[in-house]
Amino acid sequence: MARRVSIFGATGSIGQSTIDLIDRDRDGYEVVALTGGRNIRRLAADAIRLRAQVAVTCFDSELDALRDALAGTGIEAAAGTAAVTEAAARPADWVMSAIVGAAGLAPGLAALKQGATLALANKESLVTAGPLIMQTARDNGARILPVDSEHSAIFQGLVGEDPAAVERVVITASGGAFRDWPLDQLAGATVEQASTHPNWNMGQRITIDSATMFNKALEVIEAKEFFGLSGDQIEVVIHPESLIHALVGYHDGAMMAHVGAPDMRHAIGYALHWPDRKPLPVARLNLAQIGTMTFRAPDPARYPALPLAWRVMEQGGAAGAVFNAAKEVALDLFISKRIAFLDMAVLVEKVLDQVSPQMDGANAVLGLESIRDADAMARRVAMEIAERAI
Ligand code: NAD
Ligand code: MG
Repeated sequence: MARRVSIFGATGSIGQSTIDLIDRDRDGYEVVALTGGRNIRRLAADAIRLRAQVAVTCFDSELDALRDALAGTGIEAAAGTAAVTEAAARPADWVMSAIVGAAGLAPGLAALKQGATLALANKESLVTAGPLIMQTARDNGARILPVDSEHSAIFQGLVGEDPAAVERVVITASGGAFRDWPLDQLAGATVEQASTHPNWNMGQRITIDSATMFNKALEVIEAKEFFGLSGDQIEVVIHPESLIHALVGYHDGAMMAHVGAPDMRHAIGYALHWPDRKPLPVARLNLAQIGTMTFRAPDPARYPALPLAWRVMEQGGAAGAVFNAAKEVALDLFISKRIAFLDMAVLVEKVLDQVSPQMDGANAVLGLESIRDADAMARRVAMEIAERAI
């Protein structure tokens, strides 16, 4: 029987890679919902080719364009944030969560509530609301499968092992666009320079987050929440070749490394076919040709955003939501050329300093409303600080 699948953020980098895999076996899937933003042409074309039930744009203003593009096809068109979340409540067996940013949280929760398996690329869900997401999955008998490549690698490194035997996990990082730049040039780094990744082809926001290593900070928190680790069990190492995606270290000293080409279709395909392994169209590595893999410690002077992850984990409660929201504002300000590259980490740290004393419930499972309040407060404070000039 065909599996019912929905893809949130279908027009983005992860969404398109997911569609690439589904396209190769179109009879195996029944597509329920596809969502996107302003790229109506792509959204409509994919919805028509995959015979989706409904296509949703998150922008109300794009509804007419989407309706026109789908006229006569029998595919429903919808628009707006609420419509995106409603689409996640439509029964599906497997849901890809690949919206970028905190906007991915509500649709992910809705998918878990109807019991779908959630393939989670949207790392912001676990950073902002880890305990809520995990509890919602448990309460509804729903499964979450990690899609971030490092977390898929850890997940695969745990297969057949006793979780109590895990000592630590090591998450690798490429080091991003500026890993080899002289430190004194970072202050002048431009948006264009930060938007080029040495190894992975990804959306612009995560690519810039790789250059600052905010992306790795989010992934450290994501690993804590998903695998139930403590901060001191998580390490980050720079591995410029991006061939080892993560390692799991066991208490007998062994480390299980996940090695593969840097292609997100591996992690997406693993989550799509889990618990089976099916053939995937990713490059095979020739180790003799590769010759060497190298590793180095991340320099905190180059990546001041990274240590903030441990501060956020220690604080708990709404700190993850504050951190992520402040980071999203800082990234918007950098992309719109209103602050400099190095100001992003400075701004986020200032927001954490200012907001932390007002935060509650370090150990409570915060509900969606509290998380939204913390998110809104952090965005407000970030704008205030930025306007005062940091
Ligand atoms: P992208 O920018 O290429 O695509 C984002 C998608 O989300 C688009 O479909 C866009 O229309 C939609 N979107 C944007 N804002 C939205 C909003 N407010 N409401 C609803 N939809 C909205 O992003 P991406 O690189 O595919 O990343 C998607 C998610 O996956 C992010 O959370 C990212 O951190 C994570 N991720 C990406 C990669 C990668 O290789 N690209 C790897 C690991 C994790
Ligand atoms: Mg990753």
